Amino acid sequence: MPRTLSGEIQWCQGYSEPGAGSDLANVSTRAERDGDDYIVNGSKIWTTAAEEAHWIFCLTRSDPDVQAQRGITFLLIDMDDPGITVNPIIALNGARLWNEVVFENVRVPTQNRLGEENRGWTVAKALLGDERIFVSRISESTRMLACVKDVARTERADGARLMDDTSFAKRIAELDMRLQALDMMGLRLLAKAEETGQIGAEPSALKALGSPLVQAMDEAMTEAIGYYGLPDNRESWSEGSNVETAGPPHASAPMSNYLHHRGYSIAGGTTEVQKNILAKAVLGL
Ligand SMILES: Cc1cc2nc3c(=O)[nH]c(=O)nc-3n(C[C@H](O)[C@H](O)[C@H](O)COP(=O)(O)OP(=O)(O)OC[C@H]3O[C@@H](n4cnc5c(N)ncnc54)[C@H](O)[C@@H]3O)c2cc1C
Repeated sequence: MPRTLSGEIQWCQGYSEPGAGSDLANVSTRAERDGDDYIVNGSKIWTTAAEEAHWIFCLTRSDPDVQAQRGITFLLIDMDDPGITVNPIIALNGARLWNEVVFENVRVPTQNRLGEENRGWTVAKALLGDERIFVSRISESTRMLACVKDVARTERADGARLMDDTSFAKRIAELDMRLQALDMMGLRLLAKAEETGQIGAEPSALKALGSPLVQAMDEAMTEAIGYYGLPDNRESWSEGSNVETAGPPHASAPMSNYLHHRGYSIAGGTTEVQKNILAKAVLGL
């Protein structure tokens, strides 16, 4: 744990499969008991950072003959184990954002199981709640808003400032209010979790409001930088590159971010799925 906390050991999340995304309990990667080991076969998809990760935490199907949620086991698997292949998946912005992780007869000791056998769904649900607080992206939106404001106050070839355009200034004010409301809501949920020890289903609201907010920030930013957003500056970002960024430095990343962040309303459970959770678990509909 200390080496994980310090960032020395990196993890990736092996949940999604080609047939199990929103319907996550449908995972079919098999974990069959063989003495003190499980033998794992199957594949995971959309696994962020699997190419760098040392370990993967995985939902596996250990009992195919019971209700889906009752036959899942949560395993921690060393990415260096024989039988694991990691294949890249390239995102809209041209970067390697995801991977397919294939398991072929991977031997995992039973001591690497988190929780009881066939009770992995409970572990997964608790982790998803934490993930939805993280993917509200409040800090990211705060940084982005500061950046849009900076650009709007300075950027313009004709000498005028974008911030002096009342419709753009109104838009920035609206983004600011959405962000402040989200921040308050996040703090309220954290305070409640600290008080009660329960995280509940409400993080779904943070996720459902937070990811479209980042996307709205991206839209404002790409409009603010105008045509400077068009060149593909990726080559200039790699360490030691002597390729210069086209346009001002602040204009080099927003278009790539814009394309990358389209996935935020999908990652960690789609907006539709969050709304279903809220309807059922919070509003009791
Ligand atoms: C940036 C990013 C990073 C990711 N990183 C990881 C990772 O590290 N590890 C990992 O395991 N996965 C990861 N994922 C995968 C992500 O968790 C899944 O893409 C997501 O859960 C949706 O599953 P799916 O892609 O199979 O879509 P599907 O479940 O097939 O959904 C397709 C569409 O149908 C809608 N839909 C489905 N069911 C319902 C319903 N009941 N009611 C209403 N609408 C519904 C969805 O909202 C969506 O619009 C990542 C995804 C992204 C975009």
